[in-house]
Amino acid sequence: MTAQTLVLASANRDKAAEISAILAAVPGLTLVPRPEDVPDVDETGTTLVENARLKARALCAATGLAAVADDTGLEVDALDGAPGVYSARFAGEGATYADNVAKLLAELERVGAAGPPARRARFATVALVAYPDGTEVWVEGAVVGTITPEARGTAGFGYDPLFAPDGFDGRTFAEMTPEEKHAVSHRGRAFRALAERLGGGPG
Ligand code: IMP
Repeated sequence: MTAQTLVLASANRDKAAEISAILAAVPGLTLVPRPEDVPDVDETGTTLVENARLKARALCAATGLAAVADDTGLEVDALDGAPGVYSARFAGEGATYADNVAKLLAELERVGAAGPPARRARFATVALVAYPDGTEVWVEGAVVGTITPEARGTAGFGYDPLFAPDGFDGRTFAEMTPEEKHAVSHRGRAFRALAERLGGGPG
């Protein structure tokens, strides 16, 4: 067993709790919260990997420790993969989750994506560890599903009220418990794969 320390780039409490729980499966791994004085980086990448790398590298440089970061996007088939890497600001800089949900429904209406086949979508998360020696490890986790005709449910965040994963009973992520969501979610899958790569079991 090798002792390893990772600083977590995400300061979001819900994400940090979920990631900590999954990475607890790695023996000897200590996860350190993001120091409050490290400024956010601009997510200027054009892919999820680039943005995850920017966030992890910035934290690694600021702390001298290995750092883990993630980046997520929702790729909608009828919108040629949009909003993708721009999911957080789909409705503009400073957009709220509700703004983005409304924009997604409006865009699907605009392109005439009325029926389920046209509303296929995929959530993807890249989880990346950057080491001080310049090396890195990254993995992707994804889940496919359908964008529902209207928002349903109050749990979760972001686009959860619009995303019904395949293989479930038609509920959106926002209608599921956190345990149900993360058993199949993009982020759950990415971090379970990362835990395996870092020397833990499947978690
Ligand atoms: P981030 O890269 O994790 O910050 O995610 C970018 C954007 O994708 C967020 O602002 C949310 O709008 C959306 N997003 C990320 N993860 C999820 C999720 O698990 N459910 C719903 N939306 C998400």
